[in-house]
Amino acid sequence: MTEAAMRGLMMDDYQLSLTAVIERAGQFSAARKVVSRRPDGTIHRTTLGACVQRARQLSSALRALGIRDGDRVATLLWNQPEHLELYFGVPLMGAVIHTVNPRLHRDELAFIVGDAEDRVVVVDESLLPVLDSFRADHRFEHVIVVSRSGSLPEGTLDYDVLLSAAGPMSWPELSEGQASAMCYTSGTTGRPKGVVYSHRALVLHSLVAALPDQMGLSSRDTILPVVPMFHVNAWGIPYIAAFSGAALVLPGPKLDAVSVLDLLADEKVTMTAGVPTVWMAVLQALDAEPGRWDLSALERLIVGGSAVPRSMLEGFDRHGLTVVQAWGMTETSPLGSVNRLAADLFDAGAEEQYEYRARQGIPSPFVEIRARGEDGELIPWDDSAMGELEVRGPWVAASYHHGLGADRFTDDGWFKTGDVVKLDARGCIRICDRSKDLVKSGGEWISSVDLENHLMAHSAVAEAAVIAIPDERWGERPMAVVVLNEGGHATAEELCSHLSGQFAKWQVPERVEFVESIPRTATGKFKKLALRERFAADTTAAAVSSGTS
Ligand code: AMP
Repeated sequence: MTEAAMRGLMMDDYQLSLTAVIERAGQFSAARKVVSRRPDGTIHRTTLGACVQRARQLSSALRALGIRDGDRVATLLWNQPEHLELYFGVPLMGAVIHTVNPRLHRDELAFIVGDAEDRVVVVDESLLPVLDSFRADHRFEHVIVVSRSGSLPEGTLDYDVLLSAAGPMSWPELSEGQASAMCYTSGTTGRPKGVVYSHRALVLHSLVAALPDQMGLSSRDTILPVVPMFHVNAWGIPYIAAFSGAALVLPGPKLDAVSVLDLLADEKVTMTAGVPTVWMAVLQALDAEPGRWDLSALERLIVGGSAVPRSMLEGFDRHGLTVVQAWGMTETSPLGSVNRLAADLFDAGAEEQYEYRARQGIPSPFVEIRARGEDGELIPWDDSAMGELEVRGPWVAASYHHGLGADRFTDDGWFKTGDVVKLDARGCIRICDRSKDLVKSGGEWISSVDLENHLMAHSAVAEAAVIAIPDERWGERPMAVVVLNEGGHATAEELCSHLSGQFAKWQVPERVEFVESIPRTATGKFKKLALRERFAADTTAAAVSSGTS
């Protein structure tokens, strides 16, 4: 502020912490329902008020176990009420919730809980085998189990018993810059990097996400997050729901089309959110049995995490259901842009509207965008020039945990997304490519570079490039293009089994093509675009081909 500027006389030091959001839910939206489907299929019903009360008990129980300000508490849980209690109770006591993705490979899991220095883990009993797979590599001081069977492994604590023995905590006043949550993001190379959310970021994110032209949520809504609560704060939905007093339906681990559709219909869900893979399957089920589910309450499906194909927009429209595409990242909490039809297209024809809706939308309020071409210059917003998208805003990461990945942040304070885009005159984003060397399959990342390195460690392999090829069900699948050594011999099956020791099953490419050589750019990098062009269209090729040289 310059000396001449007049100072505002408002309570500008009021701290934007999640405490105000959650306490508000407990006070004014206590009766709103929280419905969950347990792993065994049974339905559990509670209320927002009861979850807030149990979150207070959870805070006391964790305090009694020695958890203090800034300590990390890991979760290995589905979308279930206990997870919501942790979302509320952990940040509000001043600690940090670290939601761990159980689909990762055990080595990655061991790495991220170590990197985050998680002191405690809360695990659903159905995920105990996942915990066991990496537990030897990280010493949690306490393992707390959400158990329905009543049988606890030795040395673990029972979540419900802990809570029932604890009194409700009066949550302390927090500073808005304090960390509230952590999520790890897969890198192109090297280890996953930790994104550390502040209270302020998630409060502002909730406020804006609830706006009509964003997710558009109010106390009249019943929200079903299909997006897992271990992915970027379930897109902020737990906090947005608490903030707006919306009801929640938590689907647990069963996310097949029929299970999702049953819940949407039975609980009269008004808004749901998740990655395209799930909705593709849901659309097929709806097409197969159009009259089976009453979805008259369902106003919109927020779909993101991967590009939404136009056929999906059209397919849901045929059932009277509106898909709204959103773009975001772990580093952007995640809301970056939402595609709501531009005002000048309200009366446009279907063709023009679909063409627009298949893009990623204009940036959310407070998110600023720009894109830089290969020449290092900012690109014009002409829907033709291509460049890497950069963003900044109050819920965009300013750095990673431990200062890793500093090259992703520009000197003037922008975050480089790794998404290659065109921008039109309205500022509408169209993702055209990805500069990060990753494959996104069913909403989960696979590092092509890690796969390549491991393939090239095989004695018969001279060179290997892994590319993303389009897949109707999963969005993308990895495909390996391999050059064998002079005289080397390996079958596709051998290479896949070589990879399976190091990678989760779903990360292993099921398609391997053997070639004489891999085209390279002038700087010696694999020309992946050329490979994608060559193989992506080649849908007739056998899923797995084998070869010798
Ligand atoms: P994550 O950090 O796992 O949430 O992944 C973020 C990345 O997912 C983005 O950088 C994009 O590459 C991709 N992504 C997210 N939303 C979309 C979308 N609507 N269309 C295309 N790609 C998307």
